[in-house]
Amino acid sequence: MKLTTPATAIFVVILLSAVSLAHTIEPAAGSGQTAIESALGIPDPVKIVLLSSAVVAFFVTLSLIFKKSFQNKHKKIIFILITVPIIFATLYLVGVTLALNTASATKGPVHWHADMEVWACGNKYHFVHSTGWDNKVGESLMHLHDDDRMHIEGVVMDMKDIELGEFFHSVGGEFNSDSITMPTTEGVKKWFNGYDCNGKMGWLYMFVNGKLEKTMDEYIISPYFNIPPGDTIKIVFSEKPLDKINPKFSEAP
Ligand SMILES: [Zn+2]
Repeated sequence: MKLTTPATAIFVVILLSAVSLAHTIEPAAGSGQTAIESALGIPDPVKIVLLSSAVVAFFVTLSLIFKKSFQNKHKKIIFILITVPIIFATLYLVGVTLALNTASATKGPVHWHADMEVWACGNKYHFVHSTGWDNKVGESLMHLHDDDRMHIEGVVMDMKDIELGEFFHSVGGEFNSDSITMPTTEGVKKWFNGYDCNGKMGWLYMFVNGKLEKTMDEYIISPYFNIPPGDTIKIVFSEKPLDKINPKFSEAP
C-alpha cells in the first residue's frame, strides 16, 4: 500500500506537534487529566492523534489483506477512510492550538526573561547547571540555561502559573517570604528567616530592578524578552538591617 509511508510520516509529525503543544503550558496538578484537558475540557490532541493512527492502521491492514480482490471503487473508499482521520487529527490539533491561545491569560505564547541572583550571608550562589541533552533546568514553561537567567516560554493559561514561587518549583526549589530552597552549583541550599548568618539572625529580602519587592514568591516578572526593560531580581538572605543592604543588581549586598 503506497499510503503507508506518508501516512506514518504525517502521524509522527502531528504526534510530535501534539506532544510539544502540551509541554508549552503548565502541567495539570494530579487530576488524572493532561494539561490541555484541564485547561480546555476537551480530549488531549495526543489521544486524538493516537486514535486516528489506530483507525488508519486498521484500514491500511485491511487494504493489504484484500489488495488482490480490490477494484478501483474499493481503492477510492479505502483512500478516503485513510485520509479522513489524518485530516481530522490535523484540524483537531490546529483547533486546540487556537483555543489554547484564545483561552490563555497571555492570548498566545510568550517568551520573557529575567536575570536572577541569590546572595546568602555575603556569598553569591548560582542555580544548578543542566545535565540533560537539552541544556535546560526546569520545565518547558519556566526554566534556566546554566546562566541564572529565568525563561518563561509558552502559553500562560493563568498568571499564577508564572509567579516566582512557581519558577522555584519548576527548577526543584522552594521560595516564599519566609524561606528559600535553591538547587545551586554547590548542592541544594536552604535559608530561612531567623536562621544563622555570620553569627546573627538572617532575613530574606528581594529587590527587583534595585527596589524592595515585598510580594516575593507572588511576584510576576515584567513581560519582556530583553533585559532591560526585563527585570533583574536580587534575592538576599542577610543579617544586615534593610537600610544597610545594597539593592543594586550584580553588586554585593
Ligand atoms: Zn528564553
